[in-house]
Amino acid sequence: MNLDQILNRGELNRDNIVSLLSVKYKKEIEKLYTRADEIRKKYCGDEVHLRGIIEFSNYCEQDCLYCGLRKSNKNLQRYKMTKDEIISTAERISQAGINTIVLQSGEDHFYSSSLITDIILTIKEKFNSAITLSIGERGRDEYDEWKKAGADRYLLKHETANEQLYSTFHQHENLKSRLAHIKYLKTIGFQTGSGNIIGLPGQTNEDIADDILLCKAMDCDMCSFSPFIPSNNSPLRKTPPANINLTLKTIAVARIVLKDVHIPATTALSTLIENGKELGLKVGANVIMPNFTPLPYRENYQIYKNKKTYDPLVYLEEIKSMLDRIGRNVGEGKGHSLKLMLNQ
Ligand code: SAM
Repeated sequence: MNLDQILNRGELNRDNIVSLLSVKYKKEIEKLYTRADEIRKKYCGDEVHLRGIIEFSNYCEQDCLYCGLRKSNKNLQRYKMTKDEIISTAERISQAGINTIVLQSGEDHFYSSSLITDIILTIKEKFNSAITLSIGERGRDEYDEWKKAGADRYLLKHETANEQLYSTFHQHENLKSRLAHIKYLKTIGFQTGSGNIIGLPGQTNEDIADDILLCKAMDCDMCSFSPFIPSNNSPLRKTPPANINLTLKTIAVARIVLKDVHIPATTALSTLIENGKELGLKVGANVIMPNFTPLPYRENYQIYKNKKTYDPLVYLEEIKSMLDRIGRNVGEGKGHSLKLMLNQ
C-alpha cells in the first residue's frame, strides 16, 4: 500500500502506523503533516486550549530511570509548595484567563488525600476552573474522593506500551498495574490523559505504534507524545535526546489515528527545539500548557536538562502572537474532552 492509500484509510492498523512513522522523504513527510493538520481542523477546529501548570512538589517516591525527579537523585534541591502558595498560583492562572489548572508533582504522599481534597475544594470555590491532577499513582479511594471533590481530569502517562521496556525503566512497577489505574480513573468519570515518551533507548517504531493504539484502546481524552530529553542526574544521562522528526511524525500519526483527542505541544518539545510548540501545533497538536510554577521552585522541577523556564505572562503574550501568526486562536471555556462535548 502506498502513502496515499494509507492516509485515505478509515482505520489504520499497526503496520499502517509503522509505515507512516517510517516515512523519510520530504514530500511524504509533508503529506503526512498536511493530513494530520486537516484532521486536527476537522475534529478540534482552530482553537488551542491553554492549561496552566503548577508543579507543586519535586519530591518523588519513584525511581524512574529516565527522570530527574527520581528519588535516588541526591543532586536536586527539593521543595514542597504550601496550600496557600498553590492557591495563589492558581489565582494567577485564573487571572491570566486560563480556565484549566494542572496540579503536577512527583509521587509525594506528604500531600495526603485530605490535603489534595482541600486544595481541589478551595480552587473550585474560588475560581471557575477545571482541574487536572497529575500526581502519579494513588489509591482508588483517593481517586474516588478527589473526583467527588470536583477534580475533572487525571493525567497518568503509560510511558511505553512495551511491557519489557516499561519494567526496565520502572524497576518496581509494571505496565499492567499502570494501565489498571488509568482504566479505573476513566470508570469513575475522570477525563483521562495518557501518552508516551519518544526516544527511550531500545524503543522501536512498532512500540510507538503500540503506544498510539493503546491510547485508542483506552479511549483517552488527552494523549501526550513527548520527546525524551536526558537528565544529567539520571542513569540515562548519556542517552541522546529524541529525534525531532520522529517526535513530530508521532504527533501527526497520533492525530490521524485518534482524531477527537486533545494532544499537547509539550514543554519537552520546545526544549528540544526552539519553535517546538509552533511545529507541534502545525502537525496535529491543539493544547499548550504554560508553566506558572513560581520562582525559585520552577528551576528545581528538573525532569530533564535545559527545561525551558520563562515568565508565564510574557510567555502567554508570545503564545498569543504565535497563534495569530499561524491562524489559530486561544480556546474559549474550559477545553473539556472533545468526546464529551462539554465545552462551556
Ligand atoms: N509523578 C507523576 C506521574 O508519574 O505521572 C507526574 C510527574 S512526572 C515528572 C511527569 C512526566 O514527566 C512523566 O509522565 C514522564 O512522561 C515525563 N518525563 C520524566 N522524565 C522525562 C524525560 N527525561 N524526558 C521526557 N519526559 C520525561
